[in-house]
Amino acid sequence: MAEQQTPQVETGPRPILPILKLQPKPHLVGSKCPGCGAIFLDVKRTACSKCGAAGNLQQVQLSDKGKVWVFSVIHQSFPGIKTPYVTAVVDLPEGVSVKSNLVDVDPEDLEKNPQKGFGMAVELVVNQVATDRQGNPVMAFQFRPSKN
Ligand SMILES: [Zn+2]
Repeated sequence: MAEQQTPQVETGPRPILPILKLQPKPHLVGSKCPGCGAIFLDVKRTACSKCGAAGNLQQVQLSDKGKVWVFSVIHQSFPGIKTPYVTAVVDLPEGVSVKSNLVDVDPEDLEKNPQKGFGMAVELVVNQVATDRQGNPVMAFQFRPSKN
């Protein structure tokens, strides 16, 4: 493993993926094509795959609310990962789909009553999943049933 480190100018919670921003409140970001308006779940995209325009994709904030498109109850995973849990693809109003886990749901209930899961209104939540070598919390995002 190389000893190269990215410069870190501040301490505190850090997101596990570049599409997750923690301030001023947790949200996801995407890249918007100024030509056709297409939005991608990506912050490093250099060209639009819809219209082919290159460069100038703008970072935009995505909604923290969406709807479950599909989900699956996972019963077997890596050692140390508690099962069962629910993984899902959540559609955001911007036309972007996000793969993530659902929390605050009953996996067995969803398995028996899948109609409860499809189309479920959900909202973004952020939880600490690890601590980095500098002792900063590493934050990941999931979705939970929407509170309103
Ligand atoms: Zn485009």
